[in-house]
Amino acid sequence: MLTSGWKSVSMVDVHGKVTFTLWLCGCNLRCPFCHNWRIAEGLDCFPLDEKALLDELEASAFLIDYFHVTGGEPLVQWRELGSLFAGVKLLDVPISLNTNLTLVGPLEKLLKADLVNHIATDLKAPTALYGLPEKASLTLWKLFLRGLEVVSDYGVPLELRIPVARNLEQWPYIEEGLRRIKTDFYVVLNPLVGRPLTNPRNEAWCSEHCWPAKEVEELREKLEGLGIEVYVNQFGTPNDTKLKGI
Ligand code: SF4
Repeated sequence: MLTSGWKSVSMVDVHGKVTFTLWLCGCNLRCPFCHNWRIAEGLDCFPLDEKALLDELEASAFLIDYFHVTGGEPLVQWRELGSLFAGVKLLDVPISLNTNLTLVGPLEKLLKADLVNHIATDLKAPTALYGLPEKASLTLWKLFLRGLEVVSDYGVPLELRIPVARNLEQWPYIEEGLRRIKTDFYVVLNPLVGRPLTNPRNEAWCSEHCWPAKEVEELREKLEGLGIEVYVNQFGTPNDTKLKGI
């Protein structure tokens, strides 16, 4: 399995939880705001030393709420991930998976094997934020919606993250996504940021759409108006950021 590293104790990767976080390489999307794009593209990656990871996890298990896997898109390496999760389960550590929810078949296999206790995913306007041609983006959006249904079918709690962009209409997609969720969930609004706090894949895109202002409060009001529990990440603390030096 290709990784770019892990952090044995993290307070910023799952809302309100302490995690042992592992970053896996590769991704099937090309999001323009992606601040982990080097990992997503398989750069700065090396083979995972599974035994070293499990030893370190065992040592810090008493401190953490979840073993959290992010990337990149972890399900790109789903077979190896399933075997890693089986090893983590033997340590009695709950497992959290951050996925873009478009690789539904692999996701369902891991859920069916009872290997995932918590899911985090981004709900994002596909044609603007998947970074792919429109037709491919819309196909992947349908898979994402199906992914929300599968997570609901298995009753896995969900952290629904919404990357908030400036000057971009996202609400129709958010409404469509919310209609598919029938499991416990809360929303984390992640205002998109660029340099110097992060290193986005597409800086020209980011100069037009990062650093939202009124959009964050507008979304919070709409979601809270629907009775949804909402948290807002402060600028500079996006979930799962592979910060320099980690
Ligand atoms: S933001 Fe997530 S889904 Fe998008 S390219 Fe980056 S790692 Fe992949």
